[in-house]
Amino acid sequence: DRYVYFFGAGETEGSRDMKDLLGGKGAGLAEMARIGVPVPPGFTITTEVCRLYLHGGRYPDGLREQVDAALARLERATDKRFGGGEAPLLVSVRSGAAFSMPGMMDTILNLGLNDRTAEALAAASGDARFAFDSYRRFVQMYADVVMGVHADQFERLLEDAKHRRGVTLDTELSADDLRALVAEFKALVRTRSGKDFPEDPQDQLWGAIAAVFGSWDTPRAKAYRRINNISDSLGTAVSVCSMVFGNMGDDSGTGVAFTRDPSTGEPRLYGEFLVNAQGEDVVAGIRDPLHIDGMEQALPASFHELVAAARLLEDHYRDAQDLEFTVEKGRLYLLQTRNAKRTGRAAVRMAVEMVDEGRITPEEAVLRVAPEQLDQLLHPMIDPSAPVRVLSTALPASPGAASGRVVFNPDEAAERGPHEPVILVRRETSPEDFHGMVVSQGILTCRGGMTSHAAVVARGMGKCCVAGAGDIVMDEARRTFSAAGETVREGDWITLDGSTGRVILGKVPTVEPEPTPDFERLMAWADGFRRLRVRTNADTPHDSVVARRFGAEGIGLCRTEHMFFEGDRIDAVREMILADSGAQRAIALAKLLPMQRADFEGIFRAMDGLPVTIRLLDPPLHEFLPHGPAEIRDLARKLGQDPIRLREQVERHHEANPMLGHRGCRLGISFPDITWMQAQAIFEAAVNVQAEGITVFPEIMIPLVATAEELARQRKVVDDVAHEVFFQCDAKVDYLVGTMIELPRAALTADRIAEHAQFFSFGTNDLTQTTFGLSRDDAGRFLPEYVGSGILPDDPFQTLDIDGVGRLVETASRLGRGVVADLKLGVCGEHGGDPRSVTFFHQVGLDYVSCSPYRVPVARLAAAHAAL
Ligand code: ADP
Ligand code: MG
Ligand code: MG
Repeated sequence: DRYVYFFGAGETEGSRDMKDLLGGKGAGLAEMARIGVPVPPGFTITTEVCRLYLHGGRYPDGLREQVDAALARLERATDKRFGGGEAPLLVSVRSGAAFSMPGMMDTILNLGLNDRTAEALAAASGDARFAFDSYRRFVQMYADVVMGVHADQFERLLEDAKHRRGVTLDTELSADDLRALVAEFKALVRTRSGKDFPEDPQDQLWGAIAAVFGSWDTPRAKAYRRINNISDSLGTAVSVCSMVFGNMGDDSGTGVAFTRDPSTGEPRLYGEFLVNAQGEDVVAGIRDPLHIDGMEQALPASFHELVAAARLLEDHYRDAQDLEFTVEKGRLYLLQTRNAKRTGRAAVRMAVEMVDEGRITPEEAVLRVAPEQLDQLLHPMIDPSAPVRVLSTALPASPGAASGRVVFNPDEAAERGPHEPVILVRRETSPEDFHGMVVSQGILTCRGGMTSHAAVVARGMGKCCVAGAGDIVMDEARRTFSAAGETVREGDWITLDGSTGRVILGKVPTVEPEPTPDFERLMAWADGFRRLRVRTNADTPHDSVVARRFGAEGIGLCRTEHMFFEGDRIDAVREMILADSGAQRAIALAKLLPMQRADFEGIFRAMDGLPVTIRLLDPPLHEFLPHGPAEIRDLARKLGQDPIRLREQVERHHEANPMLGHRGCRLGISFPDITWMQAQAIFEAAVNVQAEGITVFPEIMIPLVATAEELARQRKVVDDVAHEVFFQCDAKVDYLVGTMIELPRAALTADRIAEHAQFFSFGTNDLTQTTFGLSRDDAGRFLPEYVGSGILPDDPFQTLDIDGVGRLVETASRLGRGVVADLKLGVCGEHGGDPRSVTFFHQVGLDYVSCSPYRVPVARLAAAHAAL
């Protein structure tokens, strides 16, 4: 069996198609070498070895021989010797899974150095300082990754050494200083780990390989995979790559580049570069790098080679690439290429422009943008007219705007983030901070560039991030930071503008974004591919207008009761609920009728030509009742009633379990006059706006039906009202009456229910709640743990539980359509805007999904992906 694949020096064995086996990095190195991009030669050990090693606890037979053979080949290709000779061969040992997991696993550079080879490197390069700087970096990295001695402790020794010398920069230390430092480092390793630092390069190599494989199973790697839905069983490959040095003087350097701007999508080389530095220096944000344009002056020939390589790779992969490169004494090498991570805005622009450039088809363009990414484009921005107090302007690392309370520590963020908006403020972030970043609204760092850890991770999550705010002074001990003459304490509000890089004091209002022409074109293509219709959940004319702008094709859920809380309407609602007699209720209903009618007129106008599904009164009545003695007294005064008697009335409405109590159609069954009033308001509104020349399609939806008989009776009321209103007004409006399917009983008896229904709308929020027997309002206490420990794959209130709730949806659809072949089927509820759930709804053949206005484009794109 083959476990090792060579790359470079004209002997490449792998290719881009072997990502599963070689990992993204290994496949990229092989592909670059194959198409003539300069890469330092090396070899990749496959992910299969990782799987065998982690499961069986040992390497497969033959691996050692294959690695030895590949090393020998590498020695020939580089004309250097591993562990000896005049020119010692040094390698990096790099992890890389099939999916990129930025910063989640560790790479070791300069492996192969020991006291002997370091002297040889010093002699061969004529630069002892460089040799011993490389050596001390290696000891530090290796000890950290392989031997568990934390890097901080080495940094402290380095600081001490600089202090003793009275210098501030690493580069001011002499070769002898560094040689001494290496000895100190090794002594530290011995005391901390109880082991000697390995001198033998073979031991170093196998130690590093084992550490890379082991890093697949670290908690942070697992956490990243869980959040990104990457299987734990894939494993990582190990690439062993001959070292090239960016720290060999002013004709050397290192950097990262994107073939297009990853935040805006603008088609130009974008990136950062450091002269006389080695790989990690850029990513770690330790020194402030130059903009890539600065490389043109510093190293013009290499810059032009880089531009050419970038073009070649983009043409070859037909997508924007994210590149790592190093220049060693004027020679350019590429060390990595991968499809560039990008903001939603950049993704849309790149996809549309690549269609215009003839590189990809509209279909590919649609598939290139992940539905979730659109969310960023549609997010509110800081209101340009709001007065702001800007504390700092730094790098716009990930767009959007976010306000929250300042926290300085990721554990604190993890604790508070789920309950209140927090902004994580850090000097710089590292993979250990991930758990705090996930739950923060936004991230602010003082150090690091556009490709620093914070920036990359935030963009990936679609969170706003401002990076490298160097003028902010942190005082971690006091838990404050200061900037522009202000001191901000932990818990104070700040606002980040990730699109301009501004850090703003306090909580600033935001405005809705304007869709760009690129966005409109992409969405038009998506609309051409999808079959599912997309409606919106909207309760007001304003929401309806917003949703239409985002492409909603109707309202799938208008919750009539949401209007009950406006102004002093609630008094009439309470009067209606608390009435002792039909006559008294009639008085209250007569007050509500014109208000509801006016609301519906507004919504029908906004939705001219499109269907509007209106749900009749649904929530438990207690939600509307006055709470506490003061509110009761106040209401009694307004209604001219005795407060004591009113209190008794209120108490009579108390329910032990209101979500399963007197709500939904049960109210309409008990009080048909409420259903009557609402239906009258709907039909009168429809007749009125139709007379204005507006096209209306009301769809009246009966909530929380469990039995066919409930629906039959409520439908009769609605039909009777329609009859009467049409007769009185001498007009007619087409309408439908249907039901929500949100109880398991309804789903299981959907054939009977369908005899009385013209449509079903799956209320997947309640259906999830009732199927799991799980209260949505209380599940927060334990659901995260369920998801975290793998009992459930996802929060079922966010992503539909396909196995259980999905089966009910599928069953009800089949039973319903068995009776009414053209029964209209839709979904309202959070799941209508969740891409994975949308895929399922497409597959079971629903007609539409309905979601909140801002999610409409997400659902449109998800529906197109499902259909392609
Ligand atoms: P990551 O996945 O964290 O980016 P990499 O394996 O890509 O890890 O390497 C970390 C850094 O070291 C990168 O900047 C990379 O360019 C640099 N690097 C890796 N291998 C070499 C090498 N053989 N020569 C020079 N620099 C290298
Ligand atoms: Mg890399
Ligand atoms: Mg419901």
